[in-house]
Amino acid sequence: MGKHQFQTEIGQLLKLMTHSLYSNKEIFLRELVSNASDAIDKFNYLRLTEEQFKEEEWSGKIFIKLDKEDNSLTIGDNGIGMNEEDLMENLGTIAKSGTKAFMENLTGDAKKDSNLIGQFGVGFYSVFMVAEHVDVISKKAGEEQAYKFSTDGTGEYEVTPVTKESHGTVIYMKLKDDEKEFLDKWRVEEVVKKYSNHIAYPIVLNYSDVEYEGEGDERKEKRVQKSEQINEATALWTLPKSELKKEDYVEFYKTISHDSEEPLLYLHNKVEGANEFTTLFYIPRTAPMDMYRADYQPGVKLYVKRVFITDDEKELLPPYLRFVRGIIDSEDLPLNVSREILQENRILANIKQTSVKRILNAVKKLEGEDFDRFVSQYNRVIKEGIYTDYTNKETLLEIVRYKSSSQEGLVSFEDYISRGDSEKKEIYYIIGEDEKVLRNSPLLEAYKKANIEVLIMDDQEVDSIVTPMIGTYKEWTLKDITTIEAPDSKTEEEKKEIEEEFKPLVEKIKKTLGDEIKEVKISTRLTESPSCVLKDASDPMAGMAAMFAQMGQ
Ligand code: ADP
Ligand code: MG
Repeated sequence: MGKHQFQTEIGQLLKLMTHSLYSNKEIFLRELVSNASDAIDKFNYLRLTEEQFKEEEWSGKIFIKLDKEDNSLTIGDNGIGMNEEDLMENLGTIAKSGTKAFMENLTGDAKKDSNLIGQFGVGFYSVFMVAEHVDVISKKAGEEQAYKFSTDGTGEYEVTPVTKESHGTVIYMKLKDDEKEFLDKWRVEEVVKKYSNHIAYPIVLNYSDVEYEGEGDERKEKRVQKSEQINEATALWTLPKSELKKEDYVEFYKTISHDSEEPLLYLHNKVEGANEFTTLFYIPRTAPMDMYRADYQPGVKLYVKRVFITDDEKELLPPYLRFVRGIIDSEDLPLNVSREILQENRILANIKQTSVKRILNAVKKLEGEDFDRFVSQYNRVIKEGIYTDYTNKETLLEIVRYKSSSQEGLVSFEDYISRGDSEKKEIYYIIGEDEKVLRNSPLLEAYKKANIEVLIMDDQEVDSIVTPMIGTYKEWTLKDITTIEAPDSKTEEEKKEIEEEFKPLVEKIKKTLGDEIKEVKISTRLTESPSCVLKDASDPMAGMAAMFAQMGQ
C-alpha cells in the first residue's frame, strides 16, 4: 500500500502514447471495454468451476457514466475484479516481455503505432491520452477488501484500501481540458458502437440530459439522468451469416485483435451434426509483431456454448497458424472442461482438424493482391507448416512461393511443373543466404544454358531444413542442384578421360587445402567458372531446428 513508482518503461510508454497516438485517442474506450468484457468472461468461467460462485445471481454488465459537471468519464464492470497485488502487477508493471519489443517497434506513424497497442497488452495505459487523473477501484471475487489504485500517469501511483460492495472494477477518469468530446453522449455512443457493438455483454450509458417543462414563458429547463443500452450485446459469431455484413465482421475483428487495419480474410462457419461448433477466423493483413517470439500470444479464444473458457491455449490451432485470430465456440465440450485436459480432447482435435482445412482452403482461394499480401506476410510460417503438418502438406505446397532463376517475382510448384520437363519430372532448387549470390552462382550456369528453371531459395535458415524433406510434389522430385550432376553432362567415358587427365591437379589441391575441405572432385557442372566450393549435403542446420523447438513444434 501507499505510494509506488511506475516501472521506468511505463513512464516512457505513457509519454510515447500521449504523443504518438494523439490523433487516434478514442481507442481508449475500446481498450477499457475490452478489459471489462475479459473480466466478465473470467468471472463467468469461475461460476462454472467453483462451488462458491455457483449460487450467485448475476449477469455480466458494463456501464459508462458521463458527468459534465465533474468533467469525468467512469466505466465499470461486474467481472472478476483485482486485489491489491493484481492492481500493482497488472497496472503498475509491464509484465509481458513483449512490451520492450513494442517500444522498439514504434514508428512515429500514429496509425501504425496504434495498431501495436493491445498486441502487447498495453491497452490500459491508453487512458492517459485523455485523462489527467485515474482511479481504479476494484474488488476481487471471493475477497473481502477492495482497493483503489490512483495515478495521474506521470511516474507515481498510490494503492489504498477502500470499500466497494460487490466484485468488479470501476475506472474513474478525470478528463483533460481538451478532451471534453468524451463527455458527449453522441460521441461516446459512436465510438462504442464502432468498436464494441458485438461484445457479448450489455453496455449501458448513463448521461444527463436536458428536458423542458411547461409552455411559452412557463418553459423551464430540467436536468435529468438517463440510461440506455448502446450496443447489440450479442456475440457476433452466434448470428446467422445472412444477417451479417462485411462491416460487422471487420468491426468485430478490430475489437478482438486491437488491429486498426481491415483483416485480409474472414471465415465464419457453423458446423452441425455429431460435433457441433461455430468458428470465426480472421487473418490479419499485417503479421502480428510477436509471431516469431517464443512467448507469442495465441489469437484464438475458446468458448463453450458462448461461455468463454480460455484465450491462452496455444494448441487450438497448430502453432504454424499462430497468426490466425478468432473464436471457436463448441456445443459439445463440457462446460466445466478444465484447461489442462483440453490438449487430449477428441472433440477439440476434430474441431482443430476441420478448422485448419478450412483456413488453408480459404488462403488458397485468395486472389491477386490479397494472395501476394498473404505470401509477403506468412510464406515463412507456411514453410513451418510443410515441416510439421503432414496431413495438410499437399495444400501447403500449393500455397508456398519461391523465387525463380527464370521468372520475375515468386512462383509456385504448380507454375514450375507447368513449365518443366514432364518426362523427367524434377524440380531443381538452390539454397543459400543471399539472393544475389545464388543468382550468380556458377552452379546455375549449366541450367541457364539448358533453359532449365531453378528455384532460388534464399531463406536459408528455414529452407535448408524444410525443402529437403518435401521429397516430391505431385510425383515431381525435388533436387538440390549442389548435390546432383548438371544438365547436358558428358558420357561416362568422357568423364573418365577427364578425371584421368586432371588427377594430378586434384591431388595437388587436396594436399594444399588439407583439413579445410572434405573432398575435391572433377565436375562437369560448371560451364564458365573454373571451380566452385560446395557444402556437404548432410550438414545439419541446427539453428532452424532450434527455432521450431522454441515455437513448440
Ligand atoms: P491486456 O488486456 O492486453 O492484458 P491491459 O493493459 O488492457 O492489457 O490490461 C492489463 C491487465 O489488467 C489485464 O490483463 C487484466 O489482468 C487487468 N485488468 C485490466 N482491466 C481490468 C478489469 N476491468 N477487470 C479486471 N482486470 C482488469
Ligand atoms: Mg486489454
